[in-house]
Amino acid sequence: MAIRNIRTMGDPVLTKKCKEVKEMNERTRQLIDDMIETMYESDGVGLAAPQVGVLKRIVVIDVGEGPIVLINPEIIETEGSQIGNEGCLSVPGKAGEVERPNYVKVKAYDEEMQEFELEGTELLARAICHECDHLDGKLYVDLVMGELMDVTTEEDALE
Ligand code: ZN
Repeated sequence: MAIRNIRTMGDPVLTKKCKEVKEMNERTRQLIDDMIETMYESDGVGLAAPQVGVLKRIVVIDVGEGPIVLINPEIIETEGSQIGNEGCLSVPGKAGEVERPNYVKVKAYDEEMQEFELEGTELLARAICHECDHLDGKLYVDLVMGELMDVTTEEDALE
């Protein structure tokens, strides 16, 4: 495993639409392992492949219950709403309030390319939405209600 460089806002790779993963191979497995390690190293709640410069539809998330890998994720159901602080490893030192659904159901493939569904509420729902946005080249900063704030400590930033 290896820590990969996290791309930051201004890097064009973060604005591109990612491609679907067609099959699992050694290279993609390595990428997923590296993404998980990079997420933990950076104290993030989630990380999407474009954030390490790879335009593939892969995200990893850990809201404190172990790593979740979503390949080709597709949000198929949302419910309710929540407003909360959001941050991003690609936008260091910033945070802002974003409205997200309070519940999401996502369809995705696992590392064996088996389809599965995952439901999440609160922080997990927020993380799923945030990371899936990355795969379409969208950053949370465009969804912030009011001002994007400076954060002084890393603990203030969620993702
Ligand atoms: Zn992010």
